[in-house]
Amino acid sequence: MMKNDQLDQWDRENFFHPSTHLAKHARGETPARVVTGGSGVYIEDRDGTKLLDAFAGLYCVNVGYGRTEIADAIAAQAHELAYYHSYVGTGTEASITLAKMVIDRAPANMSKVYFGLGGSDANETNVKLLWYYNNVLGRPEKKKIISRWRGYHGSGLVTGSLTGLELFHKKFDLPLAQVVHTQAPYYFRRDDLDMSEADFVQDCVDKLQALIAREGPDTIAGFIGEPVLGTGGIVPPPQGYWDAIQAVLKEHDILLIADEVVTGFGRTGSMMGSTHYGMEPDIITIAKGLTSAYAPLSGSIVSDKVWRVLEQGTDEFGPIGHGWTYSAHPIGAAAGVANLKLIDDLNLIENNVSTGGYLRQRLNEELGDHPNVGDIRGVGMLAAIEFVEKKDGRQFFDPKTAVGPAVATGLASRGVIGRAMPQGDILGFAPPFCLSKDEADIIASATGAAVRDVFA
Ligand code: PMP
Repeated sequence: MMKNDQLDQWDRENFFHPSTHLAKHARGETPARVVTGGSGVYIEDRDGTKLLDAFAGLYCVNVGYGRTEIADAIAAQAHELAYYHSYVGTGTEASITLAKMVIDRAPANMSKVYFGLGGSDANETNVKLLWYYNNVLGRPEKKKIISRWRGYHGSGLVTGSLTGLELFHKKFDLPLAQVVHTQAPYYFRRDDLDMSEADFVQDCVDKLQALIAREGPDTIAGFIGEPVLGTGGIVPPPQGYWDAIQAVLKEHDILLIADEVVTGFGRTGSMMGSTHYGMEPDIITIAKGLTSAYAPLSGSIVSDKVWRVLEQGTDEFGPIGHGWTYSAHPIGAAAGVANLKLIDDLNLIENNVSTGGYLRQRLNEELGDHPNVGDIRGVGMLAAIEFVEKKDGRQFFDPKTAVGPAVATGLASRGVIGRAMPQGDILGFAPPFCLSKDEADIIASATGAAVRDVFA
């Protein structure tokens, strides 16, 4: 085992970390965390400290750490055939089996799955597919994509544009012109406190209609949204939101991309977030939960309607000019097959309903009355606490106050990892699906203590 200070030095000298304050890290002002192991809902760092990971990495290690079933499937695949491509109709037993398992779990009108590596490249694929779709249909002007402020869809050029968080645009010359944003379905953050939930949904519809009218419906190809806003604050949609939005999209022949990178394969307590909220998407993005992050793999699931046009396109123009070397990588596919089987065998989705609900109940018992806790929310195995400066009149903190990071730090010192969401005043939880009630108790009491301490 390498010496800690040697690793520290190499890290700061060589490693360009994502989503990191680069200068502070290089100067040694932020800790260099080295994670060495994991089991169940716990990870362990190089100093032997065990932490309850109540965010499952980046809400991706859904079945929990240390699953030998998946590790063995990966090893067996690597021994047998570590790699072969999936171009020109080629496949492996793992990739073909996984495609079948994905379509079996997707909503009924879904037809085929294209495999990528991560959520960002899958959404990149989705945008290209919508452009191709409209070109085949002879509508070359119908290309723009509507996304929501606070949505998260990746950090590439087009996907970083879809992401509705300023941090991901700033100094990168984003968003690109083909992407336009509309209001987030974030009832707690409504401008007018007197607005009912139903009126707020209508307001989202009105703003969407106005945007479509301004841009011209003939210029808009698609609308992308997470069934539950994730990185933008872990916000389940208000009642009736998706029905109302879908009616508008249908009216203007705008296709719906459901970004299920977080919600796919059980996190909401249903197999897919789309079915949970009655969405009828034309394309579904999947990633994280597909393999529980045991290997990188993502997917774009396309509906019958989209598929038929793609087929028509290749009949007219030849093979589709889209593919990655690592599309349907056999090791990712083997991990996916073992992972989806494990979710079924262990009834983990049911646990998301019962233990996820219990976690929110316990957070409410700990903090429901706290003067700086404005909202406790979630669905399935997702929860968030939003902090406010004053509950009465819902006065928000200046994001610079960074109360979320302060609470997250206090929580980590009590042995639990939660995530300070990028806006600064929200603490998020997305534990592995195998969380037990005892572990939910640990999260809730540690969070209660950390919050009371920060605001004391
Ligand atoms: N979509 C959603 C909803 C996500 O949460 C994420 C990642 N957090 C992505 C897309 C991008 O996935 P990746 O980081 O694997 O590119």
